[in-house]
Amino acid sequence: MIIVIDGPAGSGKSSSARAIANRLNIQFLDSGALYRAVTWHWVQSQKPEFETFFKILPETELQTEYRDQTFFVSVNNKDITAEIRKHNVAKHVSKIASHPKIREFVNNYMRELVKEDVYVADGRDLGTAVFPDAELKFYMEASIKERAKRRFKELQQSDPGVTLQQVKENLEQRDHSDQTRAADPLKKADDAIVIDTTGKTFEEQIEEMIKIIEEQLKLKH
Ligand code: C5P
Repeated sequence: MIIVIDGPAGSGKSSSARAIANRLNIQFLDSGALYRAVTWHWVQSQKPEFETFFKILPETELQTEYRDQTFFVSVNNKDITAEIRKHNVAKHVSKIASHPKIREFVNNYMRELVKEDVYVADGRDLGTAVFPDAELKFYMEASIKERAKRRFKELQQSDPGVTLQQVKENLEQRDHSDQTRAADPLKKADDAIVIDTTGKTFEEQIEEMIKIIEEQLKLKH
């Protein structure tokens, strides 16, 4: 069973999905982390031409685990959980994620993974393209100003050199690229429930979502 949360970068999807996983004692899947991991691998491979990169992709092994409030990601047994959050990865990720072959690779990994357990997952196209039959779909929104402030705060520890302006520009570029790409663009699914987090405290927003989940899925924590 899967609950999906889609929305633009910095809208609070990931922290909400995490909080829901903790409250309901279910698994958490961060699909953006998978695109970041593939992007990290591309950067590490000296940014090859796509055709060259696609040849090494089938031999690329992803491993993920949600533990101690952290979504751990490894590529070929190397833990890159911290690396994937850096600006050097964020700057290339939307371009890498726009390629249908990359999307197919990540989607196959996710579809296999969720067969095993109950998941809450966050992404861009989960409700529309990856899991159109998801049991419950949310779409989260927040103003660009608020999203940039939140992401900037998050990055203070992992990437202290980054400026608020860089973070805002990166979010705007990624929004544009994610919404306009041909392959599975960021879009609200017709049957998704919209949660606008602008001006709401995190606790208020989580309570609202948990209430909906409990009402709709009869999941009890
Ligand atoms: O969620 P996060 O900001 O970490 O995602 C990084 C990037 O991965 C996004 O900007 C988007 O380009 C891509 N992505 C995607 N589809 C998803 C999740 C993320 O294209 N389901």
